Amino acid sequence: METAVLAEGIGAGGANKPGMVHIVGAGPGPADLLTVRALNRIQCADVVVHDRLIDAEVLALIPPQAERIYVGKASGHHVMSQKQIHAVLIEQARKGRRVVRLKGGDPHVFGRGGEEVQALQAAGLSFEVVPGVSAANGCAAAAGIPLTHRDLAHSCTFLSGHLAEGSIDFDFDWTALARPRQTRVFYMGVERIATIACQLIAHGLAPDTPAAIVQDGARAGQYVLATGLKALVARAPAYGPRPGLLVIGETVSLSPHFKAAEESLPSNTPPVHHAERFSATDRASFYRVIASRRDMRHFTPAARVHDEVLQRVLQAAHGAPSVGLMQPWRFIRVLATALRGRIAELVDAERMMTAEALGIRADDFMRLKVEGIRECAELLVAVLAPDDGTVFGRRTMPRDMALCSLACATENLWLAARAENLGLGWVSMFEPEALAQALRLPDGAHPVAVLCLGPVPTFYDLPMLEQLAWRQGRPLAEFVRVDTWDGAQALPSRDASRCT
Ligand code: SAH
Repeated sequence: METAVLAEGIGAGGANKPGMVHIVGAGPGPADLLTVRALNRIQCADVVVHDRLIDAEVLALIPPQAERIYVGKASGHHVMSQKQIHAVLIEQARKGRRVVRLKGGDPHVFGRGGEEVQALQAAGLSFEVVPGVSAANGCAAAAGIPLTHRDLAHSCTFLSGHLAEGSIDFDFDWTALARPRQTRVFYMGVERIATIACQLIAHGLAPDTPAAIVQDGARAGQYVLATGLKALVARAPAYGPRPGLLVIGETVSLSPHFKAAEESLPSNTPPVHHAERFSATDRASFYRVIASRRDMRHFTPAARVHDEVLQRVLQAAHGAPSVGLMQPWRFIRVLATALRGRIAELVDAERMMTAEALGIRADDFMRLKVEGIRECAELLVAVLAPDDGTVFGRRTMPRDMALCSLACATENLWLAARAENLGLGWVSMFEPEALAQALRLPDGAHPVAVLCLGPVPTFYDLPMLEQLAWRQGRPLAEFVRVDTWDGAQALPSRDASRCT
């Protein structure tokens, strides 16, 4: 077989040795984009430790007798931590096996190849790195986008659109990135296209600069959308599991997929005469906080929230809209350990009952652990105050309005917490009576939610139920209708003018 000949022939000089780790780039997908050396290493492996983005075609080249260890990550959902991956590589190499660590694209381009090399060096093991075709190169070729060009782009920058854990802002020199005649390639950037575009445009990039999204680049199902940056923001596909690259720069106009935006969209931002205006950067940060708000269940144990921070998030709750400033709610801060234990017991008991009621999905449900109550830094119970008969205009306020007011306060608290890099988990109460007693609430007061607040080791990329494949969120379009409940869906078309 042709491939077997290659395995024995070219590259045999540095061939796999027992006890050695080969960190191999698998390219962007198709097997024929592997390098000959990569193929050689794969075919001589005793064990292959691989990621999620490796194509089935490439996996099929692994010899049947070789062990496969999957350590991949779906976005944000790691099967193994990076440290555990290092431990696996070291353990396998120390067994004297020929280890291939197979990674998507090139190991040294946003592939953590460097960290693995450091771990192997520290363990005193021999290793080699076999380069691969990085997504930028694969996508550029497949979508017809030159990365550099003598007239249009004198440099090309690879950037990660993934925010480092705990950070809320990109640490890029946007002024430099907004200068002309360069190509910017954002890996993991499709999800954050609005923020990236807003930053570049705010720093002087022409809004109609050619830009492209390439999903599943160089693969059979490749999808390319290429137009002016502002128009691209408006048409960007919803975030999904397909790997995608964002390319911004004049050379995108050379792609056969490129269609110039019909015309520059008029700005729909009315003149604002207030003293306080938010800049595009402020706005981008704000939307990012909203988009990355998640309910959290796993907290950093024994961590605490600084007093000033707690003060700020509670102040944010207090600033929430409320009918006529009536604010019919309280947040009860639970400080007594015994009380916290009691609340945890109540919630546990409720979970058991809910799991039983769910029947067939009970096990799945119990796996969605609610540890937050015991482990979070701050426990707050959101309570609807008793109706005190306050009259607004001629009427007492209906309870639904009071609940909305409490929901707004909770949401403000939640967003502020996210902006402070704190997690917040909402534990629903289906039978709030026992909790009302434990908190000695007066008649007519109702606990609505138990809120767990505190530092978290990591924020999920997707809502947890989606991440655990328990349930999928439905698209926004289903929630906005014309005139009546059963009216047509009525999502206004997205345009990018909010960037201006
Ligand atoms: N080391 C890899 C990159 C790993 S980061 C490399 O050099 O290519 C993973 C990101 O790479 C994905 O989120 C996506 O942005 C990009 N990517 C990988 N394969 C891709 C493909 N076939 N098409 C588009 N983007 C891809």
